[in-house]
Amino acid sequence: MANVIAAIEALADIIIANKEKLTELDAAIGDADHGINMARGFEAVRVKLAATTTEDIGAVLKMVGMTLISTVGGASGPLYGTAFMRAAAIAQGQTVINNDTAAEMLRAAIGGIKDRGKAVRGEKTMLDALEPAYEAFTQGMAEGEALPECLELATAAAAAGIEYTKTIIATKGRASYLGERSIGHQDAGATSCYLMLSALTALAKQ
Ligand code: ADP
Ligand code: MG
Ligand code: MG
Repeated sequence: MANVIAAIEALADIIIANKEKLTELDAAIGDADHGINMARGFEAVRVKLAATTTEDIGAVLKMVGMTLISTVGGASGPLYGTAFMRAAAIAQGQTVINNDTAAEMLRAAIGGIKDRGKAVRGEKTMLDALEPAYEAFTQGMAEGEALPECLELATAAAAAGIEYTKTIIATKGRASYLGERSIGHQDAGATSCYLMLSALTALAKQ
């Protein structure tokens, strides 16, 4: 895996490139700002990244988390911000990530999202992409796969999670105001999770 700076740049690139798509998804069942919110956050992250010299993965992820919390706004800012902060705590002082650490980081990130947002899987949120992704990642590890392959499995599971969000009613976040009318639409936050995992996979496979 390339260094952490390249990984965060890849996340920023994919979120900013999909700003309109994420906003369109949120327009259908939310308030049409998920792409705008996330792109604003990652634009700010990009600026800070340009001045970042440390290779401490924990330090960089902490910067990302704090920047997202202070710039994204909306539900997704504190949720993603907390996720990055929790992953940062696991990676503190480390410059290389192995499979075990990556899985722990993902688990910690999910724990942070749950603590903050009080959602569980099946409520049409980012958790419907992230939890299956974590399971697929650890399943890949158990089968002896290397990090790029584990990430690929996680990304495929997140893609399936997006499809699943189309079939369920939102019970958390703004989309919950629509009740049954949220069925048939995919969740924007699950989609941004999938995009980030796919960017990390592409980088890891290089
Ligand atoms: P807002 O809804 O405040 O406009 P965004 O549009 O940026 O914020 O983010 C919406 C996304 O946040 C949803 O698509 C969903 O995935 C996620 N989300 C909302 N509430 C929660 C929650 N309680 N737990 C987990 N994810 C949530
Ligand atoms: Mg929104
Ligand atoms: Mg909003």
